[in-house]
This record gives sequence, structure tokens and C-alpha cells, in this order.
Amino acid sequence: MNITSNVKYIVFSLVYCVTLQAVQYQNTLEFAQQMDTADQLKSYRSCFFFPQHHGSDVIYFTGNSLGLQPKKVSANIQQELDDWAAFGVEGHWNARNPWLSYHEILTDKMARLVGGKPIEVVMMNGLSVNLHLLLTSFYYAGKDRYKILCEQKAFPSDQYVLESQVRLRGHNPDDAIIEVGPREGEQFVRHEDIIAAIEKNKDQLALVMIGGVNYYSGQVFDMKAIAQAGHAAGAIVGFDLAHAVGNIELKLHDWDVDFAAWCSYKYLNSGPGGVAGIFVHERYANLNLIRCAGWWGHDKASRFKMEKGFNPIPGAEGWQVSNAPVFAMAACKASLDIFDEVGMEALCAKSKLLTGYLEFIVNEINKTHNNCLEIITSQDPAQRGCQLSIIAHGRGRKLCDALIESGVVVDWREPNIIRAAPVPLYNSFEDVYRFGQVLEKVLD
Ligand SMILES: *Cc1c(COP(=O)(O)O)cnc(C)c1O
Repeated sequence: MNITSNVKYIVFSLVYCVTLQAVQYQNTLEFAQQMDTADQLKSYRSCFFFPQHHGSDVIYFTGNSLGLQPKKVSANIQQELDDWAAFGVEGHWNARNPWLSYHEILTDKMARLVGGKPIEVVMMNGLSVNLHLLLTSFYYAGKDRYKILCEQKAFPSDQYVLESQVRLRGHNPDDAIIEVGPREGEQFVRHEDIIAAIEKNKDQLALVMIGGVNYYSGQVFDMKAIAQAGHAAGAIVGFDLAHAVGNIELKLHDWDVDFAAWCSYKYLNSGPGGVAGIFVHERYANLNLIRCAGWWGHDKASRFKMEKGFNPIPGAEGWQVSNAPVFAMAACKASLDIFDEVGMEALCAKSKLLTGYLEFIVNEINKTHNNCLEIITSQDPAQRGCQLSIIAHGRGRKLCDALIESGVVVDWREPNIIRAAPVPLYNSFEDVYRFGQVLEKVLD
């Protein structure tokens, strides 16, 4: 399928919105199949490889952890292998996609997905590495203003990054890092509590860094309002978008975010260890900020003069350190091409319907199983992406293992959460219905 006209996207979105208002979910195969028939994005499923379980596709609800492989990946990588064989070092200039500028072919597509301008985005390194590089530039820790505000239960790697950056500047993480968590007895962080914590610490706050979508609860934060509040307090505001990119609509430039970083192997399907991305707001494009510099961030025209004196490329590209990992980027390209064709608007419209259906199915099963399943992700579609985080009271990890044995790929996060993410790019309503059937069976 090749949808090219924007008009069509808008019509599809309208159809989805109308359906979302009117739809009466049913826990039947017929209903799920009807929804799939009406789904304008259904053919994209065939662009991906599904792991097999007893000869049929698994129910893959773990695209939030590692996205499925686009079928185009191997051809893209093969092309670079062939060009390497044919050209050797001259592939940097003579490959069909010259390696010297390979990262540039991802930039526009990536920028559209995060709502950034091309000068604000580049693909490079891994996510945690990029966080260190960005904090080197954007965590100004003075004597009095050195605190960092983040969400409680941030992804562990983010916690380690923040702690070590605080130590690097000679401060104590116990003092410098402020975590905002849910109130007693509540499952997710209240927006007003984040804003209040920013205001309360405004004289000492250097940085606000939050995961745009929390990996554990699936909570979506109001990034625009957080950026505004952070700036009003005199702080820099950055987001980790590992669970947001390719999952929810992002408008980083318009939201006035200072910087952001994300990996591409989750919703962006670029494979294990895939190349990550960064956003640096345009207002920093021409400032020679302190950074961990390397030759790939140096002015392109004079890079190969190999002279003394670092002269950064304007914009995000100036944060590059090493030359681009072409094979990883070739894999990433396969997925970004698909995202660029579909667009986040159509994807999110389907996502709301699909995750709403999963919520409905879980709630139906709950009625006959003593409400043993508790969805801790928000019921408000505006405050979640496609992931639902579910506590199975009294069952715990055993339930998760039983699901996996029955051909459902979900994942377990300590201490007691099953995460299920129906991904709109390749999951179907029938997947959700079948998930419900398996869930009911293993609960019985
Ligand atoms: C997945 C994830 C990471 C892992 O980053 P890598 O450095 O790419 O391994 C870091 N932070 C968050 C929030 C994540 O979800």
C-alpha cells in the first residue's frame, strides 16, 4: 500500500475519530475482524517479520521493548555490504548512499516524527551515551543552581546518567536529584505536583529531565507545560523520548524543549542496539556550547583538513562525535521510510482505537475474574500511548510466563507489572481479541 496524498491521511483520521466516538467494542472475533477490515493501515503488518509460535504469528505486544524487523532491513544492509565490497574506502563518496553523509538521509524523516526542524535533529550513538553528551552541554551546575528534577521510577539507565553527571560536577546525588512520584495510594504522577515541585525549587533548579512517556506506567507527561514551567524557573528542560517516539505525537520545536534524546529500537523498529537520535532546539544551533567534541561534529568543509581547533557544525549535527554507523542506519532507514509514509496522525488515531480495545477486553475479563487485573495506565487516551501496564493481583510473574508460553509476547517489569503494547503499525484488532482469549484461558 502506498498512500501518498495528505488529503487521504486527513480523511482517514476523520474516519478514525468518528469511529472512536461511535464505536461499541465487543469481545468477539467478528467484531475484531470487522475493525481490521476497516483499518486503513492494516497492510503495513505485512511489512514486518513476526516470530512464530506453533506455526503461526505470535501475538507480539512488546514493540515498546524491541520493535519487529521490517522486511526491507536486510536489503538495505545488503546494499551497504555490496557497496563496501565494490568500493572499499571510496564508498564514503561513491556508495549509492554515500557513507560520509549517510546520517543525513534519516534526518528529515526523524525530524518530522519528533516535530523538530532538520537542523535540530541528528541520529547518532546509543541513547544513554547521547544523554551524557547532552548533559555535558545542558547541565550547567553552578554553586547554587545545580539541582535536577526528574520523575520517580525513571528508567534505571537515566538514573545512572543523572547520578554520575551530578558527581562529575562535584555534587551529591542525594541532595541534587529531586524525584517527583505519585501520591500515596496513587499510580501515576499528578501534573500539578510536577509543576509545584519545579516552582518550589526554582532558585536551585538547573535542569528538568523527564521521560516523555514513563516506561513503567505508560504515563504521558505534558511536555509543553513542563517546558514552560521549567523555563519560568530558570532551568533547562530536556526529555528522554525512548517510549514516546513513534508512539505519540511530538512537537518538540513548538513546545520549546531545549533538548531530547531517544533510542530507535523500540517503537522505531531499527533492531537491537540501533542508532539513537537527539534534538537540540534551534536557538542553540550557532552557539559554541561546551561539549564532548569529535571530528564528526566538526565543520564539514574543513573536517578533512585535520587541523587543530574544533569548529562545530551548526545545529544538532555539531554534537556528533564519531563517524556514522552505516549498517545500523540502513536498518533504521527501513522503518523510518514506513513511518514517513504513514505519518503519526494516522498512526495515533489507530493507536487510540487499538489500545482502547485492549482496555475494554481486559475490563471484560476482569468482570468474571474478581477484578484481579488492575490497569495502572491512565484511562484518558490523551495521557497514554499504546502501552497498558497491568498488575495481576495474586498472580504476578507466573501469569506473564504462562502468556509467553501460549504465544503471547508481553514483558515483565519488577516488581509487579505486565506491560502490553499493541503497536498500531503492525498489530491488529484480532491480535487484541486473541490476547483476551489466551488471557482468560491462563487465568482459569
Ligand atoms: C530503553 C531506554 C533506555 C536504554 O537506552 P540505551 O542506552 O539505548 O540502551 C534508556 N532510557 C529509557 C527511558 C529507555 O526507555
